[in-house]
Amino acid sequence: MKLKILITAGDGIGPEVTKEAVAVLKDVAAAGGHDFAFDEKRIGGVAIEQDGTPLPEETLKAALASDAVLLGAVGANKFNSLPPEKRPEVGLLNIRTELGGFANLRPAFAFKELAINSPLRPEIIEGADILFVRELLGGLYFGKPREWNRVTRESWNTMRYSYDEVARVARVAFKLAQGRRKKLTSVDKANVLEVSQLWRATVDEIAVEFPDVTLEHQLVDSMAMHLMNQPRNYDVVLTENLFGDILSDESAVITGSLGMLPSATIGGKVNLYEPVHGSAPDIAGKGLANPLGAILTGALILRYSAGLEAEAATVESAVRKVLEQGFRTPDLVRANSQGFTVLSTTEMGAKVRETMKTLLVGA
Ligand code: NAD
Repeated sequence: MKLKILITAGDGIGPEVTKEAVAVLKDVAAAGGHDFAFDEKRIGGVAIEQDGTPLPEETLKAALASDAVLLGAVGANKFNSLPPEKRPEVGLLNIRTELGGFANLRPAFAFKELAINSPLRPEIIEGADILFVRELLGGLYFGKPREWNRVTRESWNTMRYSYDEVARVARVAFKLAQGRRKKLTSVDKANVLEVSQLWRATVDEIAVEFPDVTLEHQLVDSMAMHLMNQPRNYDVVLTENLFGDILSDESAVITGSLGMLPSATIGGKVNLYEPVHGSAPDIAGKGLANPLGAILTGALILRYSAGLEAEAATVESAVRKVLEQGFRTPDLVRANSQGFTVLSTTEMGAKVRETMKTLLVGA
């Protein structure tokens, strides 16, 4: 298997956590005889400093010529006084738009070893394993007209979807459900919004192509409650852009730490992979960052860009095993908790690789 991966590590803890994810991917390639080629380019604050722009032309060109892009995080306090259109975060928004991925996949799963970190009771979250499929290029964030009229003191945004935009993301979600527990929950507000009525009718139409998947519709307001009361009831959850933004962040409480969450954006020219967390300037450069979200993001590259499902599952098992053995980064340890071995970013990366090697040998 040949794969060209572009690393855009970015700012803050981005380079620290992507380094660990790359080391894991290199070990997987070596063990399986795969040919993974890595290139590295600047994005975000580091690119503003060295190239004068948050997304240099060279980075975009390299991204478009690769099979997958792994992005660390962008953003640093020293740029906070810049106007929004000049900040590091623009690099991220622009690369997402240029790569064109419309389906943002955000897994939210409960590690039983981390249940103590969640505000929800362990018996509620145990076994929860949800995959959010959030439409990323339409809806309220992109619809026109949009304006803040400072004279009349009115403002408006437009929630707009076309049949094709809903149909293509629905097909992605149904296909993913076929490979999981074959249940799809589509979220909307069809009791009030016409755009949700189109969404629901379209999802119903696409469902006919996937008779083996059970489809249910949920209104977004009650869904926010059900997710916290009975997260185990859900498998794949399909949402439009805004609803998915809110519900997937809400569901981060199931996992227990922002540092654990991976994401993948697929369906465009090149898939874009990023841990969900930001550049965490408060802990950058101190070896305190949790690399597991970035490592699990690497597993998504194996699954969705390399088609190496067994290897992806091995990386995920290694992460689980390391947690089972009581190893933690500082964000995973609550005050007064005992019996854990606290590791730095590089130590945690090394521990996952060591565990993974035993699993790869045993496979
Ligand atoms: P953040 O995710 O960077 O940090 C929030 C909190 O979580 C902090 O206390 C941080 O220390 C902790 N945290 C985050 N990731 C962690 C990890 N891997 N290990 C341990 N602890 C971790 O969010 P923020 O503080 O709101 O934003 C900081 C900067 O990051 C801002 O400039 C923001 O714009 C940017 N940001 C970037 C992205 C991205 O690049 N995808 C996403 C969100 C925020």
